[in-house]
Amino acid sequence: MKSLVRVLLIGAAGRMGKTVLDLGENDSKIEIVAQCDVGDPIEPAMKNCDVAIDFSHADAITEICRAALRHRKSLVIGTTGHSQHQRRTIEEAVQAVPIVLASNFSVGVNVLFWLTRKAAELLGADFNVEIVETHHKMKKDAPSGTAKTLAEILKAAQKTKADIAIESIREGEVVGEHNVIFSGPGERLELTHRAVSREIFARGALRAAKWIRGKPPSLYSMQDVLGL
Ligand code: NAD
Repeated sequence: MKSLVRVLLIGAAGRMGKTVLDLGENDSKIEIVAQCDVGDPIEPAMKNCDVAIDFSHADAITEICRAALRHRKSLVIGTTGHSQHQRRTIEEAVQAVPIVLASNFSVGVNVLFWLTRKAAELLGADFNVEIVETHHKMKKDAPSGTAKTLAEILKAAQKTKADIAIESIREGEVVGEHNVIFSGPGERLELTHRAVSREIFARGALRAAKWIRGKPPSLYSMQDVLGL
């Protein structure tokens, strides 16, 4: 029988951290061995885990990567809003440790990524594209990491360097909604995903933590984890 995957949870006191904790404690293949939140030193906590799951703040990434490299531990990064410099820190770390980086861990959104690529390829450049994302008022970054991923997918599929328009709406308690709109001559196609519970992200992150154990150093996406 395979041993439990020992997890360090970073951002443990936050909305996502608490959700991961709840699900992790009821998962027979996961053991949450350490928790960190703002002010806690990450490096000593990293020592006894197999994988660190990060749902904290983009500014924590330098310390997280340094600790992961020092102890050769895998990372599952769910935090969004990284600057270009912070993104490079992640790209440098994957030379030595495996990392799953996902702006969205839900199965539905990863299928939305796949459908968006397919729709953009089939509809071609005659269709104008636009993304609308809606989240709760407490969300710190805008546009959402998921909207940025959708924009990258659309730019690659349409072979354009032009920026894709993203509208960000912050209202109420909305967990997360993403709408991709293709407007063509005389018709309109919309792809929409609505998250109604944070559990979908937490479940995906735990699935990624189980998947990444034993993988060679590289930067992986949730699409790799799901085999999409
Ligand atoms: P939150 O503000 O509720 O929680 C963040 C927690 O991180 C807080 O407890 C905060 O004290 C802690 N924190 C801040 N800086 C830290 C540091 N340097 N070290 C350790 N802990 C630190 O936010 P949330 O809604 O839980 O979201 C957290 C992150 O996850 C955000 O970037 C959000 O966009 C992202 N997110 C990603 C997904 C996904 O599927 N990838 C889904 C939901 C949210």
